[in-house]
Amino acid sequence: MKIPRGFSYAGINAGIKAARKDLALVYSEAPCAAAGCFTVNASRAAPVRDAEKRLPAEGMRAIVANSGNANALTGPEGLADVRAVCQAVARAVDVAPDAVVAASTGVIGVPLPVAKLVAAAPALAAARAGAIEQAAQAVMTTDTRVKLASRTMSIGGVEASVAAFAKGSGMIAPELATMLAFITTDLAVSPKALQSALARACHASFDMITVDGDMSTNDAVFALANGLAGNPIIEEGTADHSALAEVLEGVCVELARQIAEDGEGATKLVEVRISGAPDVAIARDLARSVANSSLVKAAIFGADPNWGRVLSAIGARVGSRKWAVDPTRATVQVQGECVYTSGGPTGADSVALRARMREPHVAIDVRLAEGNASAVAWGCDLSYDYVKINADYTSLTHATPDGTVARDDRLTNYSPGFKRALVVEALSYISRFTNKRAVIKYGGAAMVKDSLKASFANDINLLRSAGLLPIVVHGGGPEITHTMEKLGHGKSQFVDGVRVTGREDVKVVEMVLTGRINTELVSLLNQTSAHAVGVSGKDAGLLRVRKLVGEGGRDLGMVGEVTHVNHELLEVLLEKKYVPVVSPVGLGEDGEGYNINADAAAAEIAIALRAEKLIYLTDVPGILENGELVSEIGASELTRKIETGVIVGGMVAKARSVLRAIAGGVGMVHIIDGRTPHSVIAELFTDKGVGTLVKKD
Ligand code: ADP
Ligand code: MG
Repeated sequence: MKIPRGFSYAGINAGIKAARKDLALVYSEAPCAAAGCFTVNASRAAPVRDAEKRLPAEGMRAIVANSGNANALTGPEGLADVRAVCQAVARAVDVAPDAVVAASTGVIGVPLPVAKLVAAAPALAAARAGAIEQAAQAVMTTDTRVKLASRTMSIGGVEASVAAFAKGSGMIAPELATMLAFITTDLAVSPKALQSALARACHASFDMITVDGDMSTNDAVFALANGLAGNPIIEEGTADHSALAEVLEGVCVELARQIAEDGEGATKLVEVRISGAPDVAIARDLARSVANSSLVKAAIFGADPNWGRVLSAIGARVGSRKWAVDPTRATVQVQGECVYTSGGPTGADSVALRARMREPHVAIDVRLAEGNASAVAWGCDLSYDYVKINADYTSLTHATPDGTVARDDRLTNYSPGFKRALVVEALSYISRFTNKRAVIKYGGAAMVKDSLKASFANDINLLRSAGLLPIVVHGGGPEITHTMEKLGHGKSQFVDGVRVTGREDVKVVEMVLTGRINTELVSLLNQTSAHAVGVSGKDAGLLRVRKLVGEGGRDLGMVGEVTHVNHELLEVLLEKKYVPVVSPVGLGEDGEGYNINADAAAAEIAIALRAEKLIYLTDVPGILENGELVSEIGASELTRKIETGVIVGGMVAKARSVLRAIAGGVGMVHIIDGRTPHSVIAELFTDKGVGTLVKKD
């Protein structure tokens, strides 16, 4: 990200929170035009009351912002504390006391530990650097990620840039909205022009997001422009002013979308577009009403294309406002698929639509039949976690006498109702899977990282103790390649994800697979339990193979194709609740060892064992098309995706194996991300679809 000239940023821990960063600084070496937009909440916080009186203004140099404490509803002390903090920071960075404004976010109604912030001011000043991420981290509360946006542009013949960060996750509702945002630029702008451009940008962005319909006490958006780019000062009503407003709007929309996407408990970003409205005010209002409807949001969480709730939300708002809009004449699209038009449902394929609604972005498009005005609002879905986060927020947040705010996130602290639900849900899945067989192919990048291997081993043991019968088939990919190169066998060649294996190579393959990876996995699994048994495909003739011939008669060397699975050994192990860990080498008709693609081996074993599930753990979120995850797909559609080249490389071997397993009677096959810790547990024991599920047609 390009940092505008003359700006620096800092983020440190000042002791409001136990360990995480909680104090941020934005500093300009030159005086700035400053603008701000603030919440209209009548219970607004002390720093908001202070800043809104002072902006727009000339000559500003810094903004100090803390997280962990909102300094809201803290009485007259609150305002005195704001001034004390601003003064301490002004002293530390050596500027006039009135050149600093403040912002706060966090728990309401707890006095600001002002002595800590004053004491931290010199360290904050000393931490100034170009790293805007540090400051962005320091304003986070329930945010799960930092939110940044930037632009570069040419205005008045000079190159200038805008860099911005924001926080916001819950208590997000329109009017001004939301959260804290800090926009810095080296453009020269008059305070008045900056204020109006900022207001325009907020109108189309932060005013149009909603997470929960609850307006915060602390929302503030600041813009600082220090003029170091050297452009002629931008005044209101000029073409440059419009250009500036447009750039700010772009930055604000980008931040606003990130806030909605990171809404508390959110699993999806929702974009609601209303068009064909009689005027813009109505379009904006309706877009927000839909994005804000708890029923719409809950349906989106459940990937339910329940367009009835969309039109109901619109109808309710229109009816209570007595607007001349007839919702029954609307056309509604969900994920671009028309679900309602000309006064009735279109009968769209709801299974396909459900699958598409599991994507991380959900688009709802409502075309009214009344006029030409349109608007877009952003929100998120409403998940169990939203309630969990907020029902337990204050009971888990402890303010100690010295002002430190700590969060105690152990499960034991959660409300009994939440725990009950969690346990009941998990148990219902456990009972469904007791004594069922799941073949889990473990491969790809997930095998490279030690922490992931350990969490995989942990998960397999948990599944076993919950009564599931896991069978692990591992690959060897990166490690085989690495060892081959080390031993001077040269670079491996792959044909559709299958390794061309020479006569000498196969010895290395077997050594790595059976001798190293298999024993390592077995050791890991047996650290906490003693049930894993390493099995090579040669043991008890488990995997019999014949030489595999590549497409067009291509010689792949010592690569085998499974002709027979002698699953007796596995049956014996499963009977006694052992966890077989299979290394994918096979015994050829010629008595030689053969390399088998682990995806194929897993499929054959799953068929022979009549497994309920086959799960491929790999290094991508699932099957991807144009970068988007395909959540659910039928066998023939999968075949088409191989033919049309959507699926290439290692995924081809996987996809073919998936098809083979389905044809062989395996009910459900999943391709999931092995890089996400506990993804197997999430797949088996929760409703949340992760990765790609392939089903019979
Ligand atoms: P593994 O060790 O898990 O078998 P592979 O590298 O053999 O891993 O196969 C997974 C790889 O397939 C992915 O990392 C990706 O690069 C590639 N791939 C090709 N086409 C697709 C696709 N359409 N969707 C997802 N991954 C794909
Ligand atoms: Mg592979």
